[in-house]
Amino acid sequence: MSGPTPDARALLGRLWDALDGWEATFTPVAPHPALGVDPARLDAAVDAFVARLTGPTTPATPEAARGSYPFFHPAYAGQMLKPPHPVAVAAYATALRLNTNNHALDGGPPTSQMEKEVVADLAAMLGLPGALGHLTGGGTVANLEALLVAREETGGRTVLASADAHYTHARMCGVLGVPFETVAADARGRMDLDALEARLAAGGVGTVVLTAGTTGLGAVDPIHEAIPLARAHGARVHVDAAYGGFFRLLAGDGAASPDGFPAGAFRAIADADSVVLDPHKHGLQPYGCGAVFFADPAVGRHYAHDSPYTYFTSDDLHLGEISLECSRPGAAAAALWLTLQVLPLRADDGLGPILRAGMSAARDLAARLDASERFAVVTPPETDIVVYAPVAESVRAVDAASARIFDAGMSDAADPLFLSLYRLAADRLPLPGLARDADAARVLRSVLMKPQHEPFVPHLAARLDALASAG
Ligand SMILES: *Cc1c(COP(=O)(O)O)cnc(C)c1O
Repeated sequence: MSGPTPDARALLGRLWDALDGWEATFTPVAPHPALGVDPARLDAAVDAFVARLTGPTTPATPEAARGSYPFFHPAYAGQMLKPPHPVAVAAYATALRLNTNNHALDGGPPTSQMEKEVVADLAAMLGLPGALGHLTGGGTVANLEALLVAREETGGRTVLASADAHYTHARMCGVLGVPFETVAADARGRMDLDALEARLAAGGVGTVVLTAGTTGLGAVDPIHEAIPLARAHGARVHVDAAYGGFFRLLAGDGAASPDGFPAGAFRAIADADSVVLDPHKHGLQPYGCGAVFFADPAVGRHYAHDSPYTYFTSDDLHLGEISLECSRPGAAAAALWLTLQVLPLRADDGLGPILRAGMSAARDLAARLDASERFAVVTPPETDIVVYAPVAESVRAVDAASARIFDAGMSDAADPLFLSLYRLAADRLPLPGLARDADAARVLRSVLMKPQHEPFVPHLAARLDALASAG
C-alpha cells in the first residue's frame, strides 16, 4: 500500500492551520512587545543562518566550506545520517509548537499517550510484548539506563561486550562504576562465542551485552547462541539494537530473507532482558529519539524517586517515573506516532520495504566491489553497511589509498561522493599477502540506509572505480 512521498511543507501547513483553529478557541492574546525582534536584524541573521547551513561561507575549517553534507542525496553514502521522513518532520514541527514535555502526564497528555502506544508497538516488533519501556534522547542514554538496571539486578558484577560494540558501553560502565571487559570479535565483526564462554566460565560476569548491528560493520552478534551461554552462567543479557533493531521486522517465519541476513539472531532478541533501539536511525525520525525496553516490568522499581513537582494530575504511571531523564520532548513521540500510522512496522508494508531496499543496495555494492580488481569487501554485509579496502601492496598503502579516495570523492564538485572511514586492525584486512608495515589501516565504509541508495548503486560503484583508478 503505497502512494506518493508526502510533501512536508504542505502537510505542515495543514497541521499548523489546525493548531491555529485550536488556539482560536481561547480568548485572543496580543503578542507581547518584549518578544518582538528588529526586522533588519532578523533579516541579516537569517541570511547568515542560511549561508552557514548551505554554504559556501568563509569557512573556519575546510569542512565547513560546503555547508552541510547532502545527507538527503544517495551520493551521501558515508555515516548513519539521513533526514527524517517528511511525515516525521511535519509532525515534529507541529508538536514542537505545543512543546509538550513527556516527563509527566501534566506536561503533555496526548503526546504521553502516543509515547505509550509507540513503545508498545516497538516492543512487540522486538518480540517483547508487555515490556516496560520509554523513549530517550538517544541510544547512549538508553544503554546507560539498561546498564544501570543491569547493575542493580546483578549486584554490580562485570559487564561484557564484544570488541566491536559501541564505545558507549565502556564509557557508561565507567559512569556507573561497574567493571567492563571486552570479548574478542571474529573476522566478520561478531562476538567470538568461544571467547565468551571462556570468560563466562572464569566467573564474576553479571551482564552480557550483545549487538544487533554494530556501528562499524553492521555485524550481528550470534544472539541466539550467546543467550544460552549467558544463561548457563547466570548472566543477564542486554541487546544493543540501536542500529539494527528495526531489521527484526524482516526476521519473521516465512519472510524471505536477503542473503546472509542473520534472521535467527534477530529472532532471539525476544529472549533478552533489555533492548535498546534508536528510532532516529532506521525509524525515519529526527535526532533525539532512542528507546529502551525491559522484559520484566518489575525492574521499574530501580527508577523509584520522589518528585515534589510532578505526577499530581493522574494516578497512572507517569513516564518520568520510569525514565532517567526528566524533561523529554513530546514532539519526538508525536513524530514517531504519526510516522508509524502511515509506515507501519511490517515486513511487507511501511518500514519493511524501506529496510529491504538498503539491504539489497548493500549486497549489490558488495558484489560489484568483489568483482572489481580495485577493492576487497571486508565482510559480506549482514545488514546495510558495506566496508571495503582499496587493493594495495601494504597496510600503509591501504590506509593512504582510503584517505585519498575519501578526500577526492568529497572534493569533486561536479559529481561528489561522500564516504566514511573506518579503522581496522591489519589482521582483519581482507587482502592476503599484504606487507605488514602498520598495525591498522583506515578503510572505506558506506552506510546504505536510504532506500534511494538502491537504484544509485551502479553509479556509486562506477564512481568508486574511477576514484580508485585515478590514484
Ligand atoms: C548509534 C549507536 C549507539 C549510540 O546511540 P546514540 O543514539 O548515537 O546515542 C549505541 N549503540 C549502537 C550499536 C549504535 O549504532
